[in-house]
Amino acid sequence: MIGTLIIIVVAVAVLAVALGGIALTRSRRRSGGATAAPPSAPTTAPTKPPPQATPAAPVATPPATPPAEREAPAEPEAEPLGAPPSYRSRLGGVRGLFSGAVAALRAGRIDETTWESLEEALIRADVGVTTTGVLLDELRAKVQTKEISGGDDLLQALGTSIRQLLDSVGSRALRFDGRADHPDVWLFVGVNGVGKTTTIGKLARRQSAAGQSVLLAAGDTFRAAAADQLAMWAERTGTDIVRGAEGADPSAIVFDAVQRAAARKNDLVLADTAGRLHTKVNLVEELKKIRRIADRDPGNVTEVLLVLDATTGQNGLTQARQFADAVDVTGVVLTKLDGTAKGGIVIAVERELFVPVKLVGLGEGPDDLVDFDSEAFVDALLAVD
Ligand code: GDP
Repeated sequence: MIGTLIIIVVAVAVLAVALGGIALTRSRRRSGGATAAPPSAPTTAPTKPPPQATPAAPVATPPATPPAEREAPAEPEAEPLGAPPSYRSRLGGVRGLFSGAVAALRAGRIDETTWESLEEALIRADVGVTTTGVLLDELRAKVQTKEISGGDDLLQALGTSIRQLLDSVGSRALRFDGRADHPDVWLFVGVNGVGKTTTIGKLARRQSAAGQSVLLAAGDTFRAAAADQLAMWAERTGTDIVRGAEGADPSAIVFDAVQRAAARKNDLVLADTAGRLHTKVNLVEELKKIRRIADRDPGNVTEVLLVLDATTGQNGLTQARQFADAVDVTGVVLTKLDGTAKGGIVIAVERELFVPVKLVGLGEGPDDLVDFDSEAFVDALLAVD
């Protein structure tokens, strides 16, 4: 009897332990189900922020800085100047064009073929038909008077003629008066895309390095991008900039720039202009107005620089005439002479407009702007190596 009782108690105990174990396993499975599998997964997923909505946005897009703050960097700090490029290293297109004719000249006698190959080379180099004619007539006359007898002499005489022609147009120095409280203003004119903005950026760097305090005027209001591009150069060169909205009156911007420059005792205002206009106002009239306003006291316009793209060749000359008629151009900046440009356009521009090429662009970099050096240019033009 007692034995039976003990067996029953043991059996109940075993049964209780077994039931407890099953219950425990079930409860563990239930709690582990939330991480391992659905159904909870679809409900938790949407609460997780999507990748693009992560709170990185406020960091990536800082609150817009007011233009006025951007315009006046607290501590202007320009990049250090690099070494200026040399004509020899950059005038690839020019050199290649002449080398054939020059090699033939060096070979010896002067005959009709000599004149033909020389004429072809000059015209191909964008010297232009008229200027080529003038140069060759001069050389023919020297051959007739026996001043020139062989190819080598002819080559030398050609170099001399080109140099004389180039050097007869007056000083290539950029005029800077530096009168107290009367900032010098250099205006840049030319069609879109020739390199005005880039040239202003390069010059801002150069003049600042020379100790002048420069202010930029974003007078090309035809494209918003032009002012943005100039603002980038201002930042890069540590210079101040005055800009307006797209379509704003460029004369008003130049006026403000001159006033600000005088108030802040800046030495030089570099003013960009557009090659096209928003309004129906004639471009010629607009440029005249800008110049007039820039020159109004305290402003002092000392340069009106026509920027020409050397790669446009003779078309550039047509543009040059139009701008020279509109404003009194004091000098030419010939850009992109490093590329496929046939630099003979320098000769044509100077002879036909009688305006000196003062600066030459030899690349897109901040230091790729050099003073035009007729000696080095003619050497590169007539080199055979
Ligand atoms: P803008 O419309 O007259 O102000 O012309 P930009 O200054 O915007 O220049 C137009 C393009 O010409 C840009 O891509 C410049 O980097 C490029 N550029 C300007 N000057 C030179 C130069 O001397 N050499 C070369 N290779 N490119 C230049």
